[in-house]
Amino acid sequence: MAARTPPSRDTVAAPAALRAQFRRVAVLGVGLLGGSFALAARRAGLAQEIVGYSKSPSTIRAAIAARVIDRGADSALQAATGADLVVLAVPVAAIGPLLQQIRHGLGDSALLMDVGSTKADVADAAQRALGKAALQFVPCHPIAGSERSGVQHAQATLFDGRRAIVTPLDANPESFVDAATQVWESLGAVVSVMDPRQHDAAFAAVSHLPHLLAYAYVYAVARQQHGATFLQLAGPGFRDFTRIAGSDPTMWRDIFQANSAEVLQQLQWFKQALAGFETQLRQGNWQVLESLIRQASQSRTEWASPTPADDAS
Ligand code: NAP
Repeated sequence: MAARTPPSRDTVAAPAALRAQFRRVAVLGVGLLGGSFALAARRAGLAQEIVGYSKSPSTIRAAIAARVIDRGADSALQAATGADLVVLAVPVAAIGPLLQQIRHGLGDSALLMDVGSTKADVADAAQRALGKAALQFVPCHPIAGSERSGVQHAQATLFDGRRAIVTPLDANPESFVDAATQVWESLGAVVSVMDPRQHDAAFAAVSHLPHLLAYAYVYAVARQQHGATFLQLAGPGFRDFTRIAGSDPTMWRDIFQANSAEVLQQLQWFKQALAGFETQLRQGNWQVLESLIRQASQSRTEWASPTPADDAS
């Protein structure tokens, strides 16, 4: 993980996180991640007021009823105007357009963060949408979540003990990166700082490719002649392997689109390995097949999840 370069600007007002509490936090996209951010912020005493905006008015009503947010806004601009922390928790393709909508309402010291699963595209979109104000936007990705979507699944504890990856822009002053780091730490997360492209290469391997494979595998089983019968017989192994194939299709289309080059690269590695396994199976080389399985099993055993549970995307 990359070390941070020194601050590029010293003249920018320090964001409110350095003053320990935000007066108003705006959450744009009050779903699983946005709702959990709001609940965790409330638990941490991070905000005096939490305002939410989401695409569907019914989501806002549900979030207010569940006391996830204090009040709703009619637009992203309205939510962000006067906020000293703005968190974008929408699908990655929606981040650039939303930033464009809010840019004229942003205060000079407001800190902007996202939670999107891809980072290079988000960093580029932020620079395009915000121009000079991009220095206030610190791209982030909490390694927390699940295959469930929506504010009804939001939890205050979602980030506890989880990694939160911060991928600063060159334009970010150190004070904004520090503030973003403090936000995640106050929500219970452990922060790693890295380059957006390094992030996308790593998460293509350990998150995006597994989702693509899970979708493709379920598709292949379900579409064959006796697929429905086979699926009725499936047990815990199938459940564990395919849990992530229940994830939101639109969100994952956006992720595959945003990080297609890295996902395709990982797919090549996978196809190469699969071809090796297939050759041993086809040729009846059971010793060699066992050796391949043994190497994979050992790698999986040696992998120690850095987080308390193993259900994050
Ligand atoms: P989610 O539960 O579906 O929540 C997304 C929310 O954003 C929904 O409330 C949705 O609409 C709202 N929304 C969508 N487009 C919008 C727009 N243009 N303007 C305003 N609101 C909009 O999804 P999520 O799992 O929280 O994912 C949110 C982000 O977190 C994504 O970028 C994803 O890549 C990232 N992430 C997800 C996970 C995970 O495991 N799920 C983990 C890490 C990061 P409605 O208002 O209609 O409900």
